[in-house]
Amino acid sequence: MTNMDQDILKILYTEEEIASRIHALGAQMYEDLKDKEPLFISVLRGAFIFMADIVRACQVRSDVEFIAVSSYGSGTSSTGAVKITHDIQQDITGRNLVVIEDILDSGNTLHFLKQYFMTKGAASVSICTLMDKPSRRAKQVIPDYVGFTVPDEFVVGYGLDYDQKYRNLPYIGVLKPEVYEGD
Ligand code: 5GP
Ligand code: MG
Repeated sequence: MTNMDQDILKILYTEEEIASRIHALGAQMYEDLKDKEPLFISVLRGAFIFMADIVRACQVRSDVEFIAVSSYGSGTSSTGAVKITHDIQQDITGRNLVVIEDILDSGNTLHFLKQYFMTKGAASVSICTLMDKPSRRAKQVIPDYVGFTVPDEFVVGYGLDYDQKYRNLPYIGVLKPEVYEGD
């Protein structure tokens, strides 16, 4: 199996649609953030591609950080528990943070991270998520910036994985059911 496209049932957002939405989002964020020298914090690994695109779409004086948290493992549903597996490398006291996430689902991850960063002394914590899946929310999290509001389907591509694969698809799509068989 070398061609990942054959595992995709349907494409939700093409490469062009993603680029155009991020361009608009970046311009909107610029207006809010231009005087705040924000620190963009990407949640690894799913948000790594979105991070690269959104920071370039938002030409504000800023710096970047990365945090990794425990996630789904190889399945498709959240465990609820969040654990930091790689922490940020600097003092964030008084900083205006923008957390860059791939998808907001149950809310467990971003609820936890927002509290964590506030406890560490951040002046503000905004949330920018490429996708929002509001139908599955377990913890209340209100994102400040949303690329796309998506239906309750498991999506892959543009950084998002299934079993660590498909992250390098340039589009966002839904897998064929047979790909999950055996899980
Ligand atoms: P939450 O903590 O909000 O339930 O989940 C957030 C994380 O779960 C996301 O950062 C992402 O890693 C993963 N996740 C949630 N929904 C999906 C999905 O449809 N596809 C993929 N690949 N990951 C998802
Ligand atoms: Mg993630």
